[in-house]
Amino acid sequence: MVVMSTMQSSKGHATSSTGARRLPQWLGFALAAGTFGALLWLERRRPLRRSVESKLSHGARNLAVAIGGAIVTGLVERPVVERIARRVERERLGLLKQVRLPIWLEFPLAVALLDYTLYLWHYLTHKVPFLWRFHVVHHVDLDMDASTALRFHFAELIVSIPYRAAQVRLLGISPLALSAWQTLLFMSVIFHHSNLELSIEIERKLNRFVVTPRMHGIHHSIVKAESNSNWSSGFTVWDYLHGTLRRDVPQDEIVIGVPAYRESEAVTLEKIIELPFVAQPSAWQLPEGVERIAKESRVTRKILSGESAFA
Ligand SMILES: [Zn+2]
Repeated sequence: MVVMSTMQSSKGHATSSTGARRLPQWLGFALAAGTFGALLWLERRRPLRRSVESKLSHGARNLAVAIGGAIVTGLVERPVVERIARRVERERLGLLKQVRLPIWLEFPLAVALLDYTLYLWHYLTHKVPFLWRFHVVHHVDLDMDASTALRFHFAELIVSIPYRAAQVRLLGISPLALSAWQTLLFMSVIFHHSNLELSIEIERKLNRFVVTPRMHGIHHSIVKAESNSNWSSGFTVWDYLHGTLRRDVPQDEIVIGVPAYRESEAVTLEKIIELPFVAQPSAWQLPEGVERIAKESRVTRKILSGESAFA
């Protein structure tokens, strides 16, 4: 839900009259676009999971959802949240500004606290039915790749604004820390949604610190017990601390998506745009017809029996 804001909000570069520095706009944009372009290229060369849909229609649909999100972010979220960050800096508001730490300590603490509170928000988007109603649009993608990282419904971005505003105001986040975190987060989110196959050894080394494609693949699994894990979006330390980290499901056993939305007709662009505003089926149950047809599938059996990993 914060993904689009990352591209959008690292604008500006000068030191304002209040000393509110932030990352240069060109740097944030170059890092975001470079990461996205590199991963699009890499995931074609070394795909991790087999795709279900055509790359073109899948990418076009996700891009269309992303445009809606970018408009909301540019017009609403960015002006609101950045204004709060400038006020935090000017009037020394919020936790980190009140305790008056040196910048070399305040900055990493700000990034860490934003990352941890995003972990909590992500958890809430799954557990609070009102929030899941919006976040489900991200999860019903039948394939997961770099374009999925951009696929957040504009209404999910709108409902996340009060939370983002509270993060910045209560934690005492400066414009510099906010823009740096958003840029890092964007790069991280593109990376772990990508369908890039890294060697297990590299994944294991990386996911001691950051979320990796295999880890996030488990979070996008059709099996609820698997999806209820790996909530981190940047650093994995939060999943370690909460005991919610899972690495034990082989990727070839994972079906990406949400059980109630298995048919491609259920996840057309039109359907997913209206999804938050219409009656939704019970997300973690297969539609009846599909359940019967797919009874022999191992993954379906996992869903029906409530089992989790094979490993
Ligand atoms: Zn999620």
